[in-house]
Amino acid sequence: IWQKTLDSLKQSLTPQHFATWIKPIRFIGVHNDVVELEVPNRFVLDWLKKHYYGTIQECWSNTAGAAYKISLTVASKTAKEPVPAAETSPPATPAPKPKQEKTPPRANAYNLNSRYTFETFVLGSSNQFASAAATAVANNPATTYNPLFIYGGVGLGKTHLVNAVGNAILKKNPEMKVCYYTSEKFMNELINSLRYAKMDEFRTKFRSMDVLLIDDVQFIAGKERTQEEFFHTFNALYDSHKQIVVTSDKFPKEIPGLEERLRSRFEWGLIADIQAPDMETKQAILKMKAEQNGIDLPKEVALFLASAVSSNIRELEGYLVRIGAYASLTATPITLSMAQEVLKDILVEKRRELTVEEIQKLVATHYSIKISDLKSAKRMKALVLPRQIAMYLSRQLTSCSYPEIGERFGGKDHSTIIHAIKKIEKAMDEDYQLRSVINNLKKELSI
Ligand code: ADP
Ligand code: MG
Repeated sequence: IWQKTLDSLKQSLTPQHFATWIKPIRFIGVHNDVVELEVPNRFVLDWLKKHYYGTIQECWSNTAGAAYKISLTVASKTAKEPVPAAETSPPATPAPKPKQEKTPPRANAYNLNSRYTFETFVLGSSNQFASAAATAVANNPATTYNPLFIYGGVGLGKTHLVNAVGNAILKKNPEMKVCYYTSEKFMNELINSLRYAKMDEFRTKFRSMDVLLIDDVQFIAGKERTQEEFFHTFNALYDSHKQIVVTSDKFPKEIPGLEERLRSRFEWGLIADIQAPDMETKQAILKMKAEQNGIDLPKEVALFLASAVSSNIRELEGYLVRIGAYASLTATPITLSMAQEVLKDILVEKRRELTVEEIQKLVATHYSIKISDLKSAKRMKALVLPRQIAMYLSRQLTSCSYPEIGERFGGKDHSTIIHAIKKIEKAMDEDYQLRSVINNLKKELSI
């Protein structure tokens, strides 16, 4: 069955993905309804779990004609096994621990992720404020900022930071009950408690916490019953001087559908933001993650990755893992050209997301003219050239057809677009300056 499963996987994946992720899998055996598979390292494991678990399961179950579960484990005995991400100890001291719980189970930790600590959180100007506030709260829970409200965009470190608060508190005060919940989980548990008439249990549970960390609170906006229950939980904890930390992707005022009474409570304490990381911070984070995972990451590759990803650190990490996996599977060192090759597909895809509107905006800014003038039919020289450049770039950098581009330039005929593009192409042949202007615009657009 495994061979047949491989065959059908081969058909549903690109050859490169198949070779990178599926080939290294070793079939161990089947126990009851569990298919046991082994992979060479942790990268492949994480990657498979995230991207191919369902596909593998489906292919196997289809072939076998019954539903099976898949169990993936890392092959033991490998000598230079990268440090599993769960182990936060520095790679300099590779304590060869047997396969078991690395820390004793923490009875008072509810859903905390022990991997996310302050020690593994890289400081930069973008997160300085939030992490200083988080540290203050961790050192003196319920006496500094209560609640602490952390907001910032996707993948900027909110979940990491809020878990770090919990882990630090627990380390100092093992007797404290610390609970990390996403607001979504809070809601699901609430719904279940309502359904099975277990509301008392639900309330007692949350109100007995010393520290309540609620991640992505924006999710409960618009959910009346959940907001109500959370409101009461909040009050109960707050009144008995328990620490509350809340994260969100937006500032409280900007969360649509968030009840006024909750919003005002979020504003009682401190509101701290996390901004998009700058280049230095991105590189420092890469360096730390590479060390954690035993990846040898040359500086120029870190620079390449940092500039390829605009701000999302999760995405940045994903690319690092991918490169690391490729290096370990092919037993080749990481180099710039290898990284470029491995990430080729993804980066091309990203570039394709560029829109005509973005191009118009940049060109208009560059020439200090209005976007409406770019789209107009005005024949002034100061407008004609920028307009033609914007059309040329739209054709080069987006997948729009001539008529589609014409549409976005105030409904122009496709022949106008073709004419403009020809003009620019010819001018670029002759005019060195124009060529460099256009190249710079392109560079700016492809960041
Ligand atoms: P968010 O919750 O804001 O979407 P996460 O906290 O999940 O973002 O962060 C995404 C990933 O980026 C996580 O793996 C996290 O460890 C990592 N990360 C974010 N910021 C930092 C940082 N300053 N230092 C180290 N890792 C970071
Ligand atoms: Mg998060």
